Amino acid sequence: MHLAENSRIVIVGGGAGGLELATRLGRRYGRRGELDVTLVDRTYSHLWKPLLHEVAAGTLNSSEDELSYLAQAHWNHFAFRVGALESLDRANRTITIAASVDAQGREYIPERILRYDLLVLAIGSITNDFGIEGVAEHCFFLDQREQADAFHQHLVRACYAANAGAEPVRPGRLHIAIAGAGATGVELAAELHHSLRTLVGYGLDRIDVEHDIRIHLIEGSERILPGLPESVSVSTHRALEEIGVIVHTNELVTRATSDGLWTRSGAFIPAEIKVWAAGIKGPPVLATLDGLAVNRANQLEVEPTLQTTRDEHIFALGDCAACPMPGGERNVPPRAQAAHQQAEHLVRAIAHLRQGKPLEPYAYRDFGSLINLAKHSAVGNLMGNLLSRQPASFPVEGRLARWAYLSLYKMHQVAVQGWVRTALTTVADFLTRSSKPRLKLH
Ligand SMILES: Cc1cc2nc3c(=O)[nH]c(=O)nc-3n(C[C@H](O)[C@H](O)[C@H](O)COP(=O)(O)OP(=O)(O)OC[C@H]3O[C@@H](n4cnc5c(N)ncnc54)[C@H](O)[C@@H]3O)c2cc1C
Repeated sequence: MHLAENSRIVIVGGGAGGLELATRLGRRYGRRGELDVTLVDRTYSHLWKPLLHEVAAGTLNSSEDELSYLAQAHWNHFAFRVGALESLDRANRTITIAASVDAQGREYIPERILRYDLLVLAIGSITNDFGIEGVAEHCFFLDQREQADAFHQHLVRACYAANAGAEPVRPGRLHIAIAGAGATGVELAAELHHSLRTLVGYGLDRIDVEHDIRIHLIEGSERILPGLPESVSVSTHRALEEIGVIVHTNELVTRATSDGLWTRSGAFIPAEIKVWAAGIKGPPVLATLDGLAVNRANQLEVEPTLQTTRDEHIFALGDCAACPMPGGERNVPPRAQAAHQQAEHLVRAIAHLRQGKPLEPYAYRDFGSLINLAKHSAVGNLMGNLLSRQPASFPVEGRLARWAYLSLYKMHQVAVQGWVRTALTTVADFLTRSSKPRLKLH
């Protein structure tokens, strides 16, 4: 496969991976028109997904950290089209973008067709509710910024309402149950612990934080963070219990109701506010894309080159791709660091295609895992010897781990905004911090 001058590259999904890819390709080839790069996203602005638990807890205002796709495209020499991917026609090399409709259901942009020479699918993942009864109806999900904002508004209203009542706060009213103790569930639990205390501290005096607020974290495996080294699970579990989060392990949720969650052991965990964070799957549209193969989790099956198994002109990266690791037993994990590396890999791959060189396989490099335990701390492991076949992992905790965690986001910001703009926004954030409440209070 060869990519000729002026070829059209369409990237669908402007998240952790897709936006970095569009930006790098635009900067490299868009300015002189060597390639025609278009990014498509169903929303108008980008917010880095690993920040969503902070948006949900109110420690981050989603409108302050968002980046407009249109401006980003203008600054970096690519085109942006808003709309959700609807279908694919592989024979004619086109995609269809669904019509955009407003809140009243009125169509304001009709359905469109875009032609591509090379297509990259980077539409991320959604939470998997595994069809468990009541989950879709009674639980919050944190897949999108709107959901995180809606959760935060619900939380603030619940606190205001509990504070407004004449009676003491009813048991269970401010209880939160989080199903799934992977990184998302764990980080949300820690963030909520701190943000609820801050919120109540602003003057919601009728709420007794120690007595009225409970945060339950429920995990089906025998330890929290089952995908991470045991030492990280143990120190995170200890840190959560120290701040009062109630951790349940070996408890599989079997049903959600308006009052709480039932587990397979017969236990009932009362909670009026419930969050589902137990696993991911590919968005439904992936199963309808003109015969492209998907796995059981509905992710696109790709070769180690990131080309989809049934079409060499279509690539996939990030959470929506099932990319085999060497040996083939496991896939690359759904993480921002994988999406970031795959975007970098595809920039190199596209340079190879322009030069008529063969594509190289992508190899996942694990830089370790860091779990953010709210404002001051984090727990995790960092990989020491990245060049060896079996990298040594060493544990990190506290402020050092928190700084390493923050550097993940800084890397993403540098990739999309460049060093200068990232440095300026960091300084601006620092300077304006003291003039704002530490929490979004509405
Ligand atoms: C709360 C939370 C905390 C996390 N913490 C970490 C962490 O600490 N470290 C880490 O490595 N990973 C973390 N992750 C995982 C990480 O966010 C994902 O692995 C990463 O964002 C995947 O990147 P992506 O580019 O594949 O997809 P995403 O970043 O999810 O981007 C997908 C994009 O596609 C767009 N899109 C979706 N459907 C369509 C459609 N049909 N048409 C057009 N556009 C569409 C979306 O609007 C979005 O912009 C966390 C996830 C969550 C939810």
